[in-house]
Amino acid sequence: MVRNIRQLLAAGAAGEVRRLDARVLSAFETVPRHEFVPPDLRDVAYGDHALPIGYEATISQPLVVAVMTQLARTEPDDVVLEVGTGSGYQAAILSGLVRQVYSIELVAPLARSAAERLARLGYRNVEVRAGDGYQGWPERAPFDAIVVTAGAPKVPPALVEQMKPGGRMVIPVGPQREQQLMVIEKDAAGRTRQRRIMPVLFVPLRPAA
Ligand code: SAH
Repeated sequence: MVRNIRQLLAAGAAGEVRRLDARVLSAFETVPRHEFVPPDLRDVAYGDHALPIGYEATISQPLVVAVMTQLARTEPDDVVLEVGTGSGYQAAILSGLVRQVYSIELVAPLARSAAERLARLGYRNVEVRAGDGYQGWPERAPFDAIVVTAGAPKVPPALVEQMKPGGRMVIPVGPQREQQLMVIEKDAAGRTRQRRIMPVLFVPLRPAA
């Protein structure tokens, strides 16, 4: 899986992201993706595709998880917010790279099973809660990095507010089938700049019922 990702990146599949840092590579080598997919899909867990995990959610394509993780440019002392816990795979990858991961999932049964899975596998610095990630997690803000793993029509303002100065947000933006992976950076003065990385296809960031 890792070799495949490296080849795709070197061939230009993810625009400006041509390679992964050693830290990101080693996170990929240590997290067992087969633990995060339904039992009947375990034998295809290491292919480069998204897979269904129930409740209309998917575990993201490994290439895209790698690119998003790289773009988050995390440091060991960082506190990171993930929106869209799903299976918990992206949270597990981030877990080994930063001090603390907070992850919000709209669908309560997915939040519960991801929290159980992460605890069982020993990822102790990940806290999962059920809720609407559109609002971020104000009680735990601000964040060094925010990784949104569902497609938003627009960048949620609450998430921009919850970025630290110097912070990064990686987020798929745009209508379904026309999403672009974007990076938003907030400078020391609180001004934001954004740039576009590559087209992606994520399940939509849904409004809370
Ligand atoms: N990061 C996940 C993949 C997420 S798929 C993984 O590694 O497996 C996108 C997830 O976002 C789905 O589980 C979906 O239920 C969730 N989601 C959709 N809208 C949301 C919202 N408003 N707040 C939080 N989670 C949301």
